[in-house]
Amino acid sequence: MMQSSLISSLFRKEVQALSAYKVADAKGLIKLDAMENPYSWPEELKNQWVEELKDCELNRYPDPEARLLADTLRIHDAIPECCDILLGNGSDEIIQMLLMALTPGAAVLSTTPSFVMYRQISLSLGLYFHGIALQDDFGLDVPAMLAAIAQHQPAVIFLAYPNNPTGNLFEAEAVHRIIKASSGLVIIDEAYAPFADASFMAQLANYDNLLVMRTLSKMGLAGLRLGYLMGHPDLIQQLNKIRLPYNINILSQVSAKFALTHPTVFDTQSQMICKHRRHVFEQLSGIPEITAYPSSANFILFRTPLDQADSIFSAIKQQGVLIKNLSAQGGLLRDCLRVTVGTETENEAFINALQNSLR
Ligand SMILES: *Cc1c(COP(=O)(O)O)cnc(C)c1O
Repeated sequence: MMQSSLISSLFRKEVQALSAYKVADAKGLIKLDAMENPYSWPEELKNQWVEELKDCELNRYPDPEARLLADTLRIHDAIPECCDILLGNGSDEIIQMLLMALTPGAAVLSTTPSFVMYRQISLSLGLYFHGIALQDDFGLDVPAMLAAIAQHQPAVIFLAYPNNPTGNLFEAEAVHRIIKASSGLVIIDEAYAPFADASFMAQLANYDNLLVMRTLSKMGLAGLRLGYLMGHPDLIQQLNKIRLPYNINILSQVSAKFALTHPTVFDTQSQMICKHRRHVFEQLSGIPEITAYPSSANFILFRTPLDQADSIFSAIKQQGVLIKNLSAQGGLLRDCLRVTVGTETENEAFINALQNSLR
């Protein structure tokens, strides 16, 4: 056993108080817990991809700026001319870079609930984190947000759009009010852009303090780890100093560029996921004990009867389907479970398992 005095003298108390981000073991289960795209690529596309990988020079360091990939992203995502792009090893790393660049003791603001890494990384870096509760319908509480901005003067505000784990898009007008009221940066996290028909990308030209963040993970490339941040070149220039020089490895650079130059496959898959999202939502809505919340993402949040979330979650797992139990987070998420939209067969297995667990 290591002496606990060693731990407590070495590590910041905020770090000691955290628990590591836990990922459930999905072995042998239908995996509907992590917002992954369930589809693979046509065999021919795989072969073309492998051909390109053959030419990767693994003995050389990759292009530190991943220029070919950045140029491809610019076209694929219609990123405005006025902006520069920062690439990260997943958008998680971008969140970390942003927060590492802040003044010690700076405040970070987001909503509760929202993506847990905003809080986790803020606390690990010794920053103050304030999560402002959403309204009962998961909309932004604008007066509370504006009051928190005035009180804490946050250096960074994160808004997930659509929000995770609730799946809704905030009202654009409310988001504009928050951007205007903030003297710090506002990050619109568009991780679920492939499934939503709304974006703040076009607004980048209108606000110097606005940044838009995206990822290839939810679109179908979670294994590659590629996130990207768009904003004013002066902001991106500062953040680039924090970035480790070769943070995007050559296999990710080549594979992501390859994938983005074959967008039809991913567009078709995203459309399929949106179609199945409608179907799963209808089925959930038809179960009297369940309240399903409308989603603009590739998952659906739903509420179970009082104090039954844990047992329903376990019963579903027992039947071979892994979803996400959010009930322990409390607040608005009490009694809530979240299911990722999978293939037709996976969704059916989930609905069946849920129905059985309510009997
Ligand atoms: C999944 C998710 C991310 C993380 O994406 P990675 O690029 O895989 O790190 C960021 N933000 C939100 C809101 C997410 O749901």
